[in-house]
Amino acid sequence: MADISERPTPPEGLPPKLVDALTDCTPEELRKAIVHAQELLHFHGEAALPVDPEAGDDILRVTEHEEYTAVVKQFRCADGCDDCPHGPYLYHVTEEPQPDGNHKVHWTFMGTVRDEK
Ligand SMILES: [Zn+2]
Repeated sequence: MADISERPTPPEGLPPKLVDALTDCTPEELRKAIVHAQELLHFHGEAALPVDPEAGDDILRVTEHEEYTAVVKQFRCADGCDDCPHGPYLYHVTEEPQPDGNHKVHWTFMGTVRDEK
């Protein structure tokens, strides 16, 4: 068993319940946790289509450009409010190759889109 004083400090923002769960893991379990975390990362940020709507998102329009994908979307709050839905907002979505061969998706907020109806 490693000395408790040598235990690494968890990164800020990591929920305590996760820290506790990881602290209790055997090295074998930790390796599997890393694999699973990478799979989840892939699921969240590196889907084949950069426009992977989140819950409450309403994708209105997707326009492919050479440098980026223009996405117009509006969204609803989880609870809903008088202003729902919010937007529509224009985003430029780009994929940035990472050194490890994966792609990181960037959503750049461009501003509110005027109703074109
Ligand atoms: Zn709202």
